[in-house]
Amino acid sequence: MITYSVALKSLHSFAIDALARRVIVARTETELFTFWRQASEEATCVLLLGSGSNVLFLENYSGTVLLNRITGVKIKEDSEAWHLHVGAGEVWHDLVNTCLEKRMPGLENLALIPGCVGSAPIQNIGAYGVELKKFCEYVDVLQLETGARCRLSGAECEFGYRDSIFKHNLRERHAIVAVGLKLIKAWRPVLHYGELSRLNAGQAIPRQIYDAVCAMRRTKLPDPSQQGNAGSFFKNPVITASAAENFLRRHPDAPHYPQVGGRVKLAAGWLIDRCGFKGYRLGGAALHDKQALVLINAGQATGEDIAALARHIRLQVADRFSVWLEPEVRFIGANGEVDALGVIA
Ligand SMILES: Cc1cc2nc3c(=O)[nH]c(=O)nc-3n(C[C@H](O)[C@H](O)[C@H](O)COP(=O)(O)OP(=O)(O)OC[C@H]3O[C@@H](n4cnc5c(N)ncnc54)[C@H](O)[C@@H]3O)c2cc1C
Repeated sequence: MITYSVALKSLHSFAIDALARRVIVARTETELFTFWRQASEEATCVLLLGSGSNVLFLENYSGTVLLNRITGVKIKEDSEAWHLHVGAGEVWHDLVNTCLEKRMPGLENLALIPGCVGSAPIQNIGAYGVELKKFCEYVDVLQLETGARCRLSGAECEFGYRDSIFKHNLRERHAIVAVGLKLIKAWRPVLHYGELSRLNAGQAIPRQIYDAVCAMRRTKLPDPSQQGNAGSFFKNPVITASAAENFLRRHPDAPHYPQVGGRVKLAAGWLIDRCGFKGYRLGGAALHDKQALVLINAGQATGEDIAALARHIRLQVADRFSVWLEPEVRFIGANGEVDALGVIA
């Protein structure tokens, strides 16, 4: 019989009332390896967690949650760039702040993204026209069964839109322990996205972009400490050029973004909004009333409530637009991660 004893509510941003058998904090690579091995020897499953801002617990977790809290930031400099070696447990937004305070610009568009630095490569975090991929020099990974450590170059991480090798080949039994970032000294602002385009490219300074990004995020996104959520629940769908042509003939006002290779990215929020879902509630789950891409815990939601709402939205969007949405959030079942798409299909 499993004895569940630790509340996970404060350890993930959806704030679902789920329990785990045990929660352990790892502050070094040795601790991470040792705790993982101990749990495996006891034949319990192990879930690595950073800040829990991209997960949905569908039920109680039967194993050990291992919180990665390996910290430390080392900075080296050459004529071209600053090179940062950052512990996986550092808080991403704190790193953005530290860089700006030390006058090392580049990360300002990625301000206020919740989560740990070690989780950032997993879905290649991105916002306001910039992705982690642009800065990632390498990722240090610990093979948890053997304790072997390896370094993947940015190219070897196979970054894509909300995607990387860490969601595929290196998904299990591997822990990211550090991330190497390169911030080029010849800084150029990235202002093509949304309201940032109002800034003057010739005069904009990093702090101004940071302030604008923080202001926009605070206005548009619900604060997880007030309303449990995991940011964008669905990925923006990327469809073929011919499907896009068809779609845009019927919906010429739809926002769309041509991709390299001819495919076209659509805005999932727009599709959901057009189905009239903003503010819609199902059980304890609801769609945020200002941000159609964000599912919230409207009070006492279970993981199943959130999944049921996601399923309903996905069906309605497909019915109306013939476009199938895919979840960005990772779903956790009793014994570990489960196929999120399978759950809501
Ligand atoms: C309000 C809000 C806004 C958001 N906005 C954005 C945004 O603009 N852009 C964006 O890209 N994302 C956004 N997100 C999603 C989230 O912030 C990112 O996915 C973030 O990188 C998750 O970090 P985390 O530490 O919380 O990861 P967690 O949720 O703790 O973990 C995510 C996954 O990674 C695994 N994992 C965690 N740590 C490790 C490790 N060290 N090694 C191996 N596997 C590990 C976990 O098992 C889990 O499967 C937002 C989320 C919220 C709540």
